[in-house]
Amino acid sequence: MSRNNIKAWNTYKTLYVIPYDEFFTYLNEDRSLFVYKDLCLKVDKPRIKTHLFKSNKCVCGISTTHFAIQLSKNQTTPHINAWHIVDDKTKYLMTSDHIISKRLNGSDDLSNRQVLCMTCNNKKN
Ligand SMILES: [Zn+2]
Repeated sequence: MSRNNIKAWNTYKTLYVIPYDEFFTYLNEDRSLFVYKDLCLKVDKPRIKTHLFKSNKCVCGISTTHFAIQLSKNQTTPHINAWHIVDDKTKYLMTSDHIISKRLNGSDDLSNRQVLCMTCNNKKN
């Protein structure tokens, strides 16, 4: 399987792409809301919180470089995805992994979460 997740990228309509560091400037104090242009999005998904409150680095060494505000097909409310972006053709989706899997009763809590790129996440499962 390819490391590159350009297919995943192309399944979304991308509204905005924001560099990792800049993203923090659009968050409220407790990092629960993202306010940018005409958008006000809740940052309530562990998927994104893991990147904001823990580390943005995968075990393989790559890290989240951007957040993308994206829409899936038929979606009207955009969501935030974390990406490692090298160039137009090289993009890796960054996920939030359960360190102890849910199958083994691992919790949903941030303490049991780590950032993994999609490739490392797929290898693990
Ligand atoms: Zn990785």
